[in-house]
Amino acid sequence: MNCNESLSRKSLLYKTGVEYGDYTINHVQGCSHGCMYPCYAFMMARRFGKVKNYNNWINPIIVNNAVELLTKELPKLKHKIKSVHLCFTTDPFMYKYDDICNLSIEILKLVNSYNIPCTALTKGVLPKELANLSKDNSYGITLISLNEEFRKKMEPGSAPYMDRIKSLKYLHDKGCKTWVSIEPYPTPNFIEQDFNEILEAVSFADKIIFGRLHYNKKVSEYKDYKKYYNDLAYKVIDFCKENKIEYHIKNKTITEEEQIK
Ligand code: SF4
Repeated sequence: MNCNESLSRKSLLYKTGVEYGDYTINHVQGCSHGCMYPCYAFMMARRFGKVKNYNNWINPIIVNNAVELLTKELPKLKHKIKSVHLCFTTDPFMYKYDDICNLSIEILKLVNSYNIPCTALTKGVLPKELANLSKDNSYGITLISLNEEFRKKMEPGSAPYMDRIKSLKYLHDKGCKTWVSIEPYPTPNFIEQDFNEILEAVSFADKIIFGRLHYNKKVSEYKDYKKYYNDLAYKVIDFCKENKIEYHIKNKTITEEEQIK
């Protein structure tokens, strides 16, 4: 499947203020995954008049001059860039969108040709072809549950959880660096689930990032949500230490205590 529409932009590479980012590229407007947590990128796009409503948001529009822009921007910025992340306001491997996946691979290759490593995060399926790109890259999936009914409710257009995990494992087995973003993790009043099962399912990954759910009132309706997130964060830390996995706990996930780095 391909996007029905395209647009052109004036610039593409930009420095992000996001916690674990350096430079980033968002070469699509909108995202068919249509997450209901809600999606911060959608809220911002609506606030700044880039999309009118949810239906606009879930019909992605590809940036048709992305490669052209990058070809101009990379030589100018290459000395400043430590890494490039795909993507903060859309998904680079949008489920079943061939044109977006192909463009993302082209972008990764182009960035890598300047010896700049990339990170990519998806709720789609990571293409096998990524195994042939620079081994300095790092590929990630988001995984907040293993329950497909929950996925269909919260991330309706995304790839099934097992397909995401399999694609990550494939790249891991091919010697690529892999990571898992367990974020935004829901409180039990969204879904009762076994957190250990999620950790075990991705225990092969090189890094785990854990973060709480924001921008949803239902979280604070769960009586002990602060303690709940603290306990889970420490569980992630213990699990990662035991299994020699790198970890990062997102800001404001642990509260009432000093933030752990
Ligand atoms: S995958 Fe990311 S960008 Fe796409 S809808 Fe979900 S949260 Fe938003």
